[in-house]
Amino acid sequence: MTGEKKTKIVKTIRIDVDKCNGCRACEVICSAFHAEPKYSSNNPARSRIRVIRDPLRDIYIPVYAGEYTVAECAGRDKYIIDGKEYDECAFCRASCPSRDEFKEPDSGLPLKCDMCEGEEGGPLCVQWCLAEALIYEEREEEVEAEETPEDLEIGLESLASKYGLQELRETLARMSQKG
Ligand code: SF4
Ligand code: SF4
Repeated sequence: MTGEKKTKIVKTIRIDVDKCNGCRACEVICSAFHAEPKYSSNNPARSRIRVIRDPLRDIYIPVYAGEYTVAECAGRDKYIIDGKEYDECAFCRASCPSRDEFKEPDSGLPLKCDMCEGEEGGPLCVQWCLAEALIYEEREEEVEAEETPEDLEIGLESLASKYGLQELRETLARMSQKG
């Protein structure tokens, strides 16, 4: 069914770069929380947040691991901040084939921030950031309700009874070829 609305929670971490002092506590707790077993070790290389640091300029920029991408971008970006040019793609959130960031050091598997799913107090990097550079926020948003598998089955059933199973099968086959 279309047109139905439902409410979803959008989770955000606001990053106040001016407050970050580069202590890397966020990287430590993130890697410990995701260690197997939990809290058995910590290794910032396994963290889903990393802090790009330039102590000489007092610039520290936390970046969260985002989506995994199979192919690298066709283009590249470069930032210049306070006169310093940073590496290509330095602030990109993707786990991508062109670089080692946001990958498990041993397996190479992609890492992605999961907002510390299952942790009652919310994201641990936020809790551990004593400088209050990371601010967690939640808001509700109305979105189109997605069709459930049951909805889809009912829809297909009524189409099949209207047009016949063979006709429906041929139409779906044609559609999948076009896609
Ligand atoms: S814990 Fe906070 S202050 Fe420390 S590096 Fe992370 S974001 Fe910056
Ligand atoms: S929210 Fe949790 S998973 Fe995401 S970077 Fe922070 S500590 Fe890691």
